[in-house]
This record gives sequence, C-alpha cells and structure tokens, in this order.
Amino acid sequence: MAIYFQYKTYNLLIFKQMKPWSFYNTLFHSEKSGFFLYNALSGFMLELDKEHYETAAGLRDGRECFEPQKDSEFPAFLEEHGFLAQRDDELLQLMQLQYDRNAACFNTSTLGLTICPTLSCNFCCSYCFEHSQSDPEIMSENTMDALISFIKKHKEAKSLTVNWYGGEPTLAFEVVTGLTARFRELYPDFDNAGLITNAYLLDGKWIDELANLKITTIQITLDGSEATHNSRRMLTGGGPTYRNILDNIDMLMNSNWNGRVAIRVNVDKYNRDEFAGLRKELLERYAGKNLVVRPGYLTIPLSHPYGSHSGLSVSEWKDFLFDGYKTSGIVPHGGNFPQSGAVNTCTATSRFGYVIGPRGEMYKCLEDVGNGKMVIGSVYDEEAVRNKDIVARYATVADPFNDKTCMECSCFPVCGGGCVNKRMRMKQFGEEGLECCSPVRYSLLQDLESYLDQRRTKEICDALLGKKEVPDMKQGYRLVHPEQHRHRGVGNPIAKQGSYAGACVPIS
Ligand code: SF4
Ligand code: SF4
Ligand code: SF4
Repeated sequence: MAIYFQYKTYNLLIFKQMKPWSFYNTLFHSEKSGFFLYNALSGFMLELDKEHYETAAGLRDGRECFEPQKDSEFPAFLEEHGFLAQRDDELLQLMQLQYDRNAACFNTSTLGLTICPTLSCNFCCSYCFEHSQSDPEIMSENTMDALISFIKKHKEAKSLTVNWYGGEPTLAFEVVTGLTARFRELYPDFDNAGLITNAYLLDGKWIDELANLKITTIQITLDGSEATHNSRRMLTGGGPTYRNILDNIDMLMNSNWNGRVAIRVNVDKYNRDEFAGLRKELLERYAGKNLVVRPGYLTIPLSHPYGSHSGLSVSEWKDFLFDGYKTSGIVPHGGNFPQSGAVNTCTATSRFGYVIGPRGEMYKCLEDVGNGKMVIGSVYDEEAVRNKDIVARYATVADPFNDKTCMECSCFPVCGGGCVNKRMRMKQFGEEGLECCSPVRYSLLQDLESYLDQRRTKEICDALLGKKEVPDMKQGYRLVHPEQHRHRGVGNPIAKQGSYAGACVPIS
C-alpha cells in the first residue's frame, strides 16, 4: 500500500508538472493507417502504438493516465514537439507568425507589379467579374512613361517581378514588349515575368518573343470539355474558342520556349465532374512538357448574373478536391499535408505590391480591377497612393491576427486567414455570399488521412525497391511528418496562398 501511495504521488507530481494538451492537437484513429497525433501549430505528426495513443487520449481528457516507469521520455517528447504546450506560449508563437506577416507586408526589397495593358477582352465569359471588357483603352506611351517614373521612385526595391493581366493582355503586344525593354534597362536581372491569358491570340508572334519578354510562366484557362468550355468562354459577340486555344497551346509546347504552362480550370457546379478527365487528357497530350493543370475556385458575387448558386461553397470545394484525390489520385496544389506557418501575403497586403490599370490607375488586388471605388491612386501623381484607406484596410484592418474568430480557430496556423479581399468585403463592406475560410477547416482529418495514404504507398514502394526499410515502432511512437526533427515547436513561416484564395491562383 505504501509503495502504491508513493508511486501515485510521483505519478501525480509528473502529471501536474506537464504542460497542458495543446489547443492545436488532433488525435485520431485511422482505420487504414493506425493511431496519430497532429499539431497544426508545430506542424508535427506522430504515429503512435495503441498504448501511447491511450496515454495521449488520457492527457487530452485530463485523466491520470501516465505511467512514468513505462516511458519517461514520452511527455518530454510531446512537449518538445508542441503537443503539450501552455496556451500563452502558443499565443506567443502566433505573435511570431504575425511578425513574419508584417515583415513580409512591409518588405521593400521587391517591387511586385500586376500590369493590365488593357481591360478590353476578346471574350465575354459568363462568370467574368471584370466590369470593363468593352473599354477599348490600351495603355498609352504617356502612361508607360508615368509607370516607369513611378517604378524609379521605388529605390529600395532591388528586384522587379511582373505579371501581365487584363482584360486580355495579348491584345496589347506593343505595350508588353515596350515596357519589358524598359524594365530590363532599369533592372538588368529582370527575368521572371508571368502572363495570364485566355490564349486565343497566343500565336507564333507571341511565342517567338516569350524568351525576350522574360516570360517564364503562362496561365491559360480551359473550362472542361470542348462543349462546356465553349458554352462559358466564348468570343465577344459569340463564337467558340476551345480549338483555337488548344492549337496555340500545341504550338507553344512544340516551341523552343522552356517556361511553365499552368492550365487553370475554373470549377463550379456545372463542370466539376469534367476536371479530372480534362486534366488527364492534357497531361497525356503534353507528356514530358512543363505543364500543370489545376482547378481554380470561382468567386461569384451574389449580384452577378451568372448566379451565385453556380459557385461551390468552400465545403463543396473541399469535397471536390477530396473526390479528385480518392478517384483519380489528384494531389491538391501544395500537397495533402496541412502545413503550418501560413501567413498569407499577396500583392494586396504588400507595401510594394500594385495592380496597374491601362490609364495608370492603381489597385491593390486583381479582383478590384475596373472597380472605380477600389482605385488607390495613379502612376501620374507625385503622391501616387492617395486612397490610403484601401491600402490600410488590406494591410492591417483585414489582418486575420486582429480577428477574434481566427485567433480562436484551431486551423489558423494552417489557414492563415484566407484571402484578404474576401475578408474585407465580407467583414468590412458587409457583402453577402462570400467565404474566406480555408477548406482545411472542413477537411483536416480527410487531408491527414490522404497524406498518410500517400506516405504509406511511398514507404512500401521504397521497401520493395530496397531503398529504405519500412520504419518500425520500437519506441511506441515516431515522427511521420516531418521525418527529421526541424526546430522546437515552431512551424515554417512560409508565406503561401492557397488555390481557394481568389482570382490569383499562383502560376508558378
Ligand atoms: S477572358 Fe478573362 S477578362 Fe476576358 S471575359 Fe473571360 S474572364 Fe473576363
Ligand atoms: S484575390 Fe485575394 S489573394 Fe488574390 S491578390 Fe486579391 S486579396 Fe490577394
Ligand atoms: S478564415 Fe476561417 S478557417 Fe481560417 S483561421 Fe479564420 S476562422 Fe479559421
């Protein structure tokens, strides 16, 4: 009895000294893969045997479950990897992430421009959110001069990145070639531009110039089968576009240009079943070429005639992605593993990030193009940014670290608060029918299961090929993500923007 009492006291002592169960833990049993513990803040995932799983469940539920004579190292391991943590310490880690976000927002080493040489477009897509496709303005020489003067004012910027956008940028070949020549005078290292185009006019003239224009990535939209695509991405005044685009992609892929093509498929309720088939067809057609095919999330405002009910909710989008993985093995952009350390920065949040319209008007976000209320200034003005209200809203007021709901959300380190344009429209302008939550909010367990599935396949293949043995569980637990210990309790502070974000699916 005395011995039992002594043991109980010792046990309680250790139990009381242990840090509490982390707010960001997910402890789960997978039918296929076993027992696991994931932490969204540290980004670590452990595989456990049943005994350690039950110990972890006891710690989670506040039960006295820990038997130090069996494995005295386990609690220290859990603490070291962030599974046991004081809430105050976790909030401090979030503050570090906020610091990383602010540092990225106010970084002035790179000037990032999205340039619309025209807002005019040769298409009239049924879901287009831009308001000015019939505006014939093409950026003039005067505006190009003003833009160059504006760029020169950013003396701190050591490099320049450019994305050509519109409207349809291929309608303004002279603007793109003229400005690029001047960018190369200002920044001799300028070598990384992107082009977002419908590709109808992306013919030999363009393809021959791509290397000179330093265009390394091209995003082209195809929306499903030929019939589906033509029913929603038609020429202004009517007319199919699919065949012409495909011919141009053929020409591009058979050319000497060695950049990357990203085919974006705008997915909604009408074409979600076509994505996997189109992807397969394109990957086969361009086997061995530098090509990715990705779904794009369509944000359709309630007031848009295409109908708010055409778009997928974030939860439906998550189901779409998961079905794609289950039925066709399509791993979402960025992988299945819910990475920690999201600080979601983009043009809209960056001090040196601007979207430039054809008259020299400036915006912060691609989604604002053509919307007069969201103009922040003009490249013609000495003080180019006049509407600091919009700039401040994007950089600070829409900061998810100032949002109680996000700060209390267990997905925050993975989600990072989503697209700030949607966040601002929803939370500050009261726009209905928008969501800014990441799909991970609805799919954390599914994502983890998919990751384990992939990982197990790889482990078995490696073992069969004699590359590595299937790891054992002698200790009763092992790290399955990452395989090596990185650094104590903190995830990678990598700025990233998920593909659900908005118009700007990353094209690299
Ligand atoms: S190609 Fe782009 S800009 Fe042109 S109508 Fe379609 S969605 Fe709008
Ligand atoms: S749509 Fe969202 S993610 Fe893209 S630039 Fe605008 S605010 Fe940033
Ligand atoms: S946007 Fe939604 S999912 Fe993301 S942190 Fe905020 S509440 Fe959570």
